[in-house]
Amino acid sequence: MTIQESATHTGLPAHIARGQLFIGGSWREGDGGGRTDIINPATGKVAASVATGTVADINAAVAAAQDAFGDGRWSRLSGRERSRVLLRASQLIRERATELALVESIDVGKPITFANVVDVATAADQYEYMAALAQQLDGSVRETPLSAHAFTRREPLGVVAAITPFNFPLILSSTKLAAALAAGNSVVHKPASDTPLSALYMAQLLTEAGLPDGVLNVVTGPGGTLGDHLVSHPGVAKVAFTGSTEVGAHVAELAGKSLRPVTAELGGNAANILFADADLEKAIGTVISAFVFNTGQFCMAGPRLLVERPIYETVLGILEDAVPGVPIGDPSDPATVIGPLASRKQLDKVSAMVEAARAAGAKVVTGGEPLELEGGYYYRPTVIAGVDSTAEVVKDEVFGPVLTVQPFDTEAEAIALANGTEYGLAAGVQTGSISRAHRVSAALDAGIVWVNSWALLDPSVPFGGVKASGWGREYGPESLDSYTRTKSTIIAFDQE
Ligand code: NAP
Repeated sequence: MTIQESATHTGLPAHIARGQLFIGGSWREGDGGGRTDIINPATGKVAASVATGTVADINAAVAAAQDAFGDGRWSRLSGRERSRVLLRASQLIRERATELALVESIDVGKPITFANVVDVATAADQYEYMAALAQQLDGSVRETPLSAHAFTRREPLGVVAAITPFNFPLILSSTKLAAALAAGNSVVHKPASDTPLSALYMAQLLTEAGLPDGVLNVVTGPGGTLGDHLVSHPGVAKVAFTGSTEVGAHVAELAGKSLRPVTAELGGNAANILFADADLEKAIGTVISAFVFNTGQFCMAGPRLLVERPIYETVLGILEDAVPGVPIGDPSDPATVIGPLASRKQLDKVSAMVEAARAAGAKVVTGGEPLELEGGYYYRPTVIAGVDSTAEVVKDEVFGPVLTVQPFDTEAEAIALANGTEYGLAAGVQTGSISRAHRVSAALDAGIVWVNSWALLDPSVPFGGVKASGWGREYGPESLDSYTRTKSTIIAFDQE
């Protein structure tokens, strides 16, 4: 079955086709009875519809999560018991990889090959990794001069509000859910309105894996009302947000008013620094994948290429020749590398930013226009030169398959250009010098730096932002710090 043929209610798994909310272990319509169409970005046609949740549904979801947390059906299981459920979830994800990848591809427009080998595989890895960490949530004994036994415990927080963006729905929800659940929390998940389908899929899958009712609740609907209400809800103990810097700042403000901890994984606009001593053939492949992966809708994309001046013209020439050859089109074709943008809104935003750059005198080296194909939201991979750091297309997050290229003369200038942004999520250094790799990566303001590579990620390696790219770390043992609290207990000895 092709993506297009699948893009009907009947082509999706039954519980996704119903598109209901998942609250307290039951599927149900939203309180107001409304529905929202979900568009397949490869065709512009309706692929499914989901219930439009209301604040009453958020209240019900938080209440169900609180009940589940309070009676200990999950929160007071041993780490090993929780681990078994998470491991089973990982196994089920792998067993159903084909179906789950199709859901993600229809929803987001992801090329099916990447949906499989990146999105689904990473989600399975997340649950597997957190299953292992669930068994290691130990406290420690503290040596003190007190006549007492002092020790710490790590406890779950309560109800976690997980809010996720449109671009990696499955990976980003798995990142939050696997960590929150490993630590024993309950969750209310509000996925992005444009791409909620894998969240519904995972609610069913986690239930089948043995997650007790009420521990995970999924409410679809508009972030402006539901998200605000969820973040401010007195029953929520922690907010785990991934999305834009603008909404993240608003969420942090709301949560701050009630002194609720927030992790905020926000926008990015990474620089990729290409030195003349790099292996150019390898580096060009890295440069291209860094800006076209996920059609550029990647917080850790590398849309700002900085090239050492002696190879600047050569690099522009290679990109002009190579970029138009990157396969773009039907996401169901296994050879496709660039799919459509996830929504009409994204297509319009990317088009407008490139047009503004062109109007301001930038040189469009290749691309620079939408691609008409089957009614989908395609945009040709685009390379722009003749811009400086004040151009909107350089300083703002484009979130599309658009690369800007700027020359530099010295290492210090490259570092200054790379750091000259409000964001600080990721950065890249392409060089043949190990000394330079250490020196420059240490000087870059970013949560993660890739040397002679891009987007290498692993559940064991933390990532997260600095500056306007956010607070906190996900992945790795570090992520569990923000889903647990330390309790100290001091038991006084009887006096003889
Ligand atoms: P967004 O507009 O900020 O939305 C993110 C989520 O927040 C969605 O579920 C959205 O719901 C919800 N939301 C909207 N308004 C809200 C409010 N007032 N209160 C609470 N929640 C609210 O981001 P997006 O456009 O989906 O995603 C793209 C952005 O995410 C980019 O900036 C990208 O860099 C960033 N991102 C960061 C990371 C990271 O790890 N740092 C990873 C991926 C993406 P609706 O969909 O219903 O509006």
